[in-house]
Amino acid sequence: LTEAYLTAIEASDLNAFITVTPERAHEMAEASDTRLAAGTGRALEGIPLGIKDLFCTEGVRTTAGSKILGNFTPTYESTVTQNLWDAGAVLLGKLNLDEFAMGSSNETSAFGPVLNPWGENLVPGGSSGGSAAAVAAHLCAGATGTDTGGSIRQPAALTATVGIKPTYGRCSRWGIVAFASSLDQAGPIARTVKDAAILLREMASLDLKDSTSVDRPVPDYEAALEGGVKGKRIGIPKEYRVDPMPPALDALWQQGIDWLKDAGAEIVPVSLPHTKYALAAYYIVAPAEASSNLARYDGVRYGLRVEGDDIIGMYEATRAAGFGDEVKRRILIGTYVLSAGYYDAYYLRAQKVRSLIARDFNRAFEKDIDALLTPTAPGPAFSIGGKPDPVEMYLNDVFTVPVNMAGLPGISVPAGLSETGLPLGLQLIGRPFEEDGLMPIARVIE
Ligand code: GLN
Repeated sequence: LTEAYLTAIEASDLNAFITVTPERAHEMAEASDTRLAAGTGRALEGIPLGIKDLFCTEGVRTTAGSKILGNFTPTYESTVTQNLWDAGAVLLGKLNLDEFAMGSSNETSAFGPVLNPWGENLVPGGSSGGSAAAVAAHLCAGATGTDTGGSIRQPAALTATVGIKPTYGRCSRWGIVAFASSLDQAGPIARTVKDAAILLREMASLDLKDSTSVDRPVPDYEAALEGGVKGKRIGIPKEYRVDPMPPALDALWQQGIDWLKDAGAEIVPVSLPHTKYALAAYYIVAPAEASSNLARYDGVRYGLRVEGDDIIGMYEATRAAGFGDEVKRRILIGTYVLSAGYYDAYYLRAQKVRSLIARDFNRAFEKDIDALLTPTAPGPAFSIGGKPDPVEMYLNDVFTVPVNMAGLPGISVPAGLSETGLPLGLQLIGRPFEEDGLMPIARVIE
């Protein structure tokens, strides 16, 4: 299996991988074979995976899609990837992504854009674009992603794969290059809900090295697949629309509702009134945290260094050369909204909006709603270079960011095709730590 995937990666021109690790893969696969022969095989024994290049991997270059980390090789392993290796999985290599996971199309990567296997010159979504494209093109059995505002679910939707953003705290953030720490979560991208469920079960754990990791037993998400949806109450939030709403997306949403009704679920209209403020608040909170997290890239401790006349000159030259345009834009926005005099007007206000968004979801779930069904993204994959305006790009996240703002679990499931024959996804949003409850519902839609 490992050999087959390595051959497929070699032959592929999607630019999904930044680094391929054939030697490491063979070593791990052989160790798996030995354990299988001894009858001590584990849950993911010998399963070849791709890892988003935001997860630190010991002894394997980890770039975060940035020039500034272009030569960075960690001396430690992220908790999530360690959990996967402990379950017997095999590392094929590190997957391309938007620089520091900032983007919705994989076009901000310093290692070039990733192509979507669904069409000529199409983006795979982002920021986990390499992960989604590699899974869709059968270059790996499954992949890890991270999701700060939609970066697992949106690329999954654009490539007809399944992506899960778990509840904040479910997967450890330790060893994952930080973007916006109060929003970042790791999760799987896979070809089926079942594969994604198995991967999530193995990725999740309590980790004392991440102070926001939560001490809750990890359910057997695979067993949960069989739960059925009879009597489940599915909320349909009326605010999850764009203007104009693409007819195929609207029709698909209705189709999803019908599938769930036919399977015995009850459909309940709900209102999440603060949804319209989520995107604006996200694009204050996320850059604020990013500007702080990215202060560490100063040419002293990690990666790239560009000499200057003095130490300040060295910092400036390093950051000017090392960061791309989108990352610089986020740092500028972030430092602005955190600066004295603007903090109350922007950052504090965005935090208040964040509380209101979380309260909307709580109120819906208090009405015995088991899950919410929405579209994942406002449209299908678009052309490379097709959205040059950053604000237009940010609109891609309109249905996914509220879930991160509230810390809830969300899953994107391939549901149908656009007028132009490209994949569209539907999103299920669940109660905190009830990813297991989403599994049987997702199965009805896939
Ligand atoms: N597209 C969003 C952004 O650029 C989300 C990215 C993510 O989830 N990592 O911030």
